[in-house]
Amino acid sequence: MQIHSHEFKERAVTALHNSDLQRALAKAKGGFVDKRRAVIDILPEFQALRNRAREIKEHTLANLDFYLEQFEQQVQQQGGQVHWAENPQQARDIILKLCREANARSVTKGKSMISEEIALNEALEADGIEVVETDLGEYIIQLAKEPPSHIIAPAVHKTREQISDLFHEHHQKYGLTQRLTEVPDLVNEARQILREKYLQADVGITGANFLIAETGSTVIVTNEGNGDLTNCLPKVHIVTASLEKVVPTLEDASTILRLLGRSATGQEMTSYTTFTTGNKRDGDVSGPEQFHVVLVDNGRSKMLGNQFHDMLRCIRCGACMNHCPVYGSIGGHAYGWVYPGPMGSVLTPLMIGLDVAGDLPNACTMNGRCESVCPMSIPLSHLLRQHRIQQFERQLPDLRTRLGLRVWSFVAQRPRLYRFATGMAGRVLRLLGGRRGRVRSLPLTGSWTASRDFPTPQGESFIQQWQRSNPS
Ligand code: SF4
Repeated sequence: MQIHSHEFKERAVTALHNSDLQRALAKAKGGFVDKRRAVIDILPEFQALRNRAREIKEHTLANLDFYLEQFEQQVQQQGGQVHWAENPQQARDIILKLCREANARSVTKGKSMISEEIALNEALEADGIEVVETDLGEYIIQLAKEPPSHIIAPAVHKTREQISDLFHEHHQKYGLTQRLTEVPDLVNEARQILREKYLQADVGITGANFLIAETGSTVIVTNEGNGDLTNCLPKVHIVTASLEKVVPTLEDASTILRLLGRSATGQEMTSYTTFTTGNKRDGDVSGPEQFHVVLVDNGRSKMLGNQFHDMLRCIRCGACMNHCPVYGSIGGHAYGWVYPGPMGSVLTPLMIGLDVAGDLPNACTMNGRCESVCPMSIPLSHLLRQHRIQQFERQLPDLRTRLGLRVWSFVAQRPRLYRFATGMAGRVLRLLGGRRGRVRSLPLTGSWTASRDFPTPQGESFIQQWQRSNPS
């Protein structure tokens, strides 16, 4: 997948002016937030579950080598094989080799963010293998030749009309010439095509929401059942997963599953939760002859114990982006790589470099909504601030920004000077704004005043209000 994170600002401006995108985002925004609120309101133990989930993940991360080895042993005992990939290239090479050994001409795929991270589709297609995404959202963006714009709703940026056009353009070769417009009809049409693809596929590739160390099982959650058909029908099943997906026991996975569906789509549980353990055994009705798990590191082991360690608890529910005002205004493509929104703004610089993705940690108002809804209690604002600190230390921002931050830091550390400077600034702004209470242009604020007026401070300052309500 190509990297466009360095074009964040330009892409964000384009997204703000894209009326189709704005319509699609407006429709999606309320749905996720309201549904999550409703299911959490009726779960009194939500906070207790959150605490327990955090404990499980922290315990696992503290003993990651032990649980990963246990997982590998269990997979082997069930007839499967685990492959270790340090980076995307190694992961692609392993999967390509497995596909070549299976003489694969056709691969079906369940939704997997790791496969996006390692740019798997491009590698398979370059090898002459047909890749068919089977998650409906992924299928839509595959037809559109676009990356996902959300980690659980990859086609959230598409309107119904756009999907209708896409299906009409791409499905005619299957003899489906009528342009359908209603959602159930579009879903049925996609299903009709995908059924054939499942039956033809030589290899099925899925992601994993969890890897269970005690049983060697992998777990995926879907709402369409496409994961089951992808892992059962082809003769080879390959699971791609990152190291931190492992949990010690089935019970641990069940605890976190109770948070996942609620935080992601506002469902108590997703429609399908599929546990896969090994390959087909005597007496099994269906299942693959070969079962492989490709475990991808890609920088995660370096995060263990460093200032970004908390990010390894992420279960990819998407709640942070559903509640992020920046993501809600520009969608996922502006972020320019696999992971958008708050979790992406933390992860992307770690994976592709702060010098390429430096705008992402700055595209945050620090309002804290993301971390308040994160089921794994990840302090996202704090982690974004860590990136900003590193940027400043490595002198990545331009000279003007660095000088501005130095002046700000000097003033903010001297309370008297701070009060004097902010008091003076307030008075000057009020003078400039006059009765309108707004300033049309100011030095150093061009990017703000180019499109809107700058409001002058009104009433008491925060410090004055604080002193009044805390007189002692
Ligand atoms: S950071 Fe938290 S809210 Fe965001 S995807 Fe990860 S677990 Fe979900």
